[in-house]
Amino acid sequence: MPEDHANSWEARAAAHSFYGFTDLPSVRERGTVVVTHGEGAYVVDTHGRRYLDANSGLWNMVAGFDHPGLAAAAKAQYDRFPGYHAFFGRMSDQTVMLSERLAALAPFNDAKVFYTNSGSEANDTLVKMLWFLARAEGQPARRKILTRKNAYHGVTAVSASMTGKPYNEVFGLPLDGFIHLTCPHYWREGRPGESEAQFTRRLAEELDEVITREGPETIAAFVAEPVMGAGGVIPPSEGYFQAIQPILKRHGIPLVSDEVICGFGRTGEVWGADALGFTPDAIIASKALTAGYFPMGAVILGPELADRLQVAVDAIEEFPHGFTASGHPVGCAVALKAIEVILDGADGAAPLIDNVRRMTPVFEAGMARLAQHPHIGEWRGRGLMGALEAVADKDSGTPFAGHLSVSERIANTCTDLGLICRPLGQAVVLCPPFILDDGQMDEMFGKLETALERVF
Ligand code: PLP
Repeated sequence: MPEDHANSWEARAAAHSFYGFTDLPSVRERGTVVVTHGEGAYVVDTHGRRYLDANSGLWNMVAGFDHPGLAAAAKAQYDRFPGYHAFFGRMSDQTVMLSERLAALAPFNDAKVFYTNSGSEANDTLVKMLWFLARAEGQPARRKILTRKNAYHGVTAVSASMTGKPYNEVFGLPLDGFIHLTCPHYWREGRPGESEAQFTRRLAEELDEVITREGPETIAAFVAEPVMGAGGVIPPSEGYFQAIQPILKRHGIPLVSDEVICGFGRTGEVWGADALGFTPDAIIASKALTAGYFPMGAVILGPELADRLQVAVDAIEEFPHGFTASGHPVGCAVALKAIEVILDGADGAAPLIDNVRRMTPVFEAGMARLAQHPHIGEWRGRGLMGALEAVADKDSGTPFAGHLSVSERIANTCTDLGLICRPLGQAVVLCPPFILDDGQMDEMFGKLETALERVF
């Protein structure tokens, strides 16, 4: 419970901070958890309470909250050269090196990278690149963007329009020309009697129909998360990307993989696209790119889009776009270190992706055990990200009704127990840091089990 003391951290937080993405009745009742520092996978609040953060911050703090190598990489670069842009014919050496590293990691040859401060801005940048390209290539009508219902691509006007969540209606979004297809969630969206293969086929047919209806020449791209994250951790139905990619290819529409959550190891592979078995035409990256130690996003263009964009830009001699901190040298130095920590192993430690692979079966077993609960309708996930969907009736999958969702109550109870997890719709989402060990995995599932017992 919050202290009503006017000088409490809770009261001070509420007095002068505007809350985003927060269930306000819940915060009014419970107060704000004001965090002062982190220890590995744990965060500590102003009362000294420790919480195992099974959210990795916001899917991003994959190396935990006190990684010495990442802090040291940032400090060393702050000491050497604290900030710069990547424009007007200048660029930091760190930016050059990071682009080389990302190009080598990308699932296609000859990639080119453009830097932003966030995943939202990376999606905006991608769309502006495609709009620029369309006009330069004499196809100014090619502006529509296809995404899916329940997709999350960010909060700027364009990336929020790409996002397939109804809450954006309060902003009068989406903008015209952003089209949301059926969410590839077989358990929720499959029709009675429809097999998973039939469901996948139906979604592929829907895509073909929408492209034909809208006119392929009006569509700039199809953008998809390999595993949907903020929609409630939704892996696509079996064969989904294999079914849709040929249709996109036939119509000349690029497939862009929004890897803001999946990229850099979350699924056990470098890219979510690798895990799902498809090769995209471009990638959107952020979050684990810097292990959350610096705000940064990137658009990584595959060779065809990169070449065409280069030709278009060469024709007018400048691409008029970028952010003050695009290619920030501290961000780039941190990203280089984060990639080393996750994929190569740094300072004598094993690569974190090895731990993701080792812990994935343990995670899956824990999720499967909790999914036996009479009010858990489904567990789903990939690698170290998963969701438990709470239902009023397990057989029919009927969701609970009401404003304060059951998942919110489960998550609040977990907070009381010293575990941070995220309510998303009626699901409770877990995406722990890549450093989680067996004991912490037990702690996470043990606390979640206790929370389920208390709520139901
Ligand atoms: N794309 C995906 C898949 C995301 O999950 C997110 C954020 O969670 C974004 C884009 C937006 O990134 P940001 O919050 O850094 O703007």
